[in-house]
Amino acid sequence: MSNAAQRKLITGGLSKPSKMPGYAYNLPAIHCKTGSKLAQVPGTTCHGCYALKGRYRFPNVMDAMMRRLRSIHRPDWARTMAADINARRSRWFRWHDSGDIQSVKHLLKIFQVCRLTPDVAHWLPTREAGLLSKIPQDRVPSNLTIRLSATKVDGPAPGSWPLTSTVVTTGRSCPAPDQGNACHDCRACWDRNIKNVAQGTSPHFLSLIPITAQSFTYGCFIIIFSISIEDIFSPPDIIISLDLSLILIYPSSCITAKSPV
Ligand code: SF4
Repeated sequence: MSNAAQRKLITGGLSKPSKMPGYAYNLPAIHCKTGSKLAQVPGTTCHGCYALKGRYRFPNVMDAMMRRLRSIHRPDWARTMAADINARRSRWFRWHDSGDIQSVKHLLKIFQVCRLTPDVAHWLPTREAGLLSKIPQDRVPSNLTIRLSATKVDGPAPGSWPLTSTVVTTGRSCPAPDQGNACHDCRACWDRNIKNVAQGTSPHFLSLIPITAQSFTYGCFIIIFSISIEDIFSPPDIIISLDLSLILIYPSSCITAKSPV
């Protein structure tokens, strides 16, 4: 693929969350197979999904995510995604800060992208246990960490996949809330030696309770910033203004801590 503009036409573009170590990619959460159902159920990690409201409902945001969703069916999607990721020259990539795997075929295409980007570490959070069950674990590329997310807040880690993430009201292992809601040097989510990453229901999570497999695996500020930045805003300086606008959009009561984390 010859240039960035042509690649973006095919893939819909990547995003650059300001507080993550690399680039990311998102799909519409309304098309999460499992997450869209869990979002209706209180007590689940998808309930109150931030990606089903607010900025995510803006027509241009929806259009961009729907364009990405349609593009995954293209025969040139995997190699174009790989070319785009390689062109960014970043060591880290996060799949689906909104949205989730759509099918086994989609997952296998992601595997192809990972194999074509051998110098990049990929992290793919998902709630699609059923789709993962159809994939032999030894088929997962060595540079891809798939974490199956827990269904309930304070619930157990899923037992059907070796690497998981949970959401807890106390005892989180994710240090992001202590360091400006940023990863900084932490790469636990990408680290296959870490069996489970426990995300906290920190103040940052409360107003925009993360949803979908992916959402709770990161601070919502980070996720919100990452959404379709290339399509909606003019990166990179808009990232700072998003920090400010979030405070305006969500009243202070929404970011009051409920838990001690
Ligand atoms: S555990 Fe938290 S800080 Fe560490 S990589 Fe995951 S999201 Fe980032």
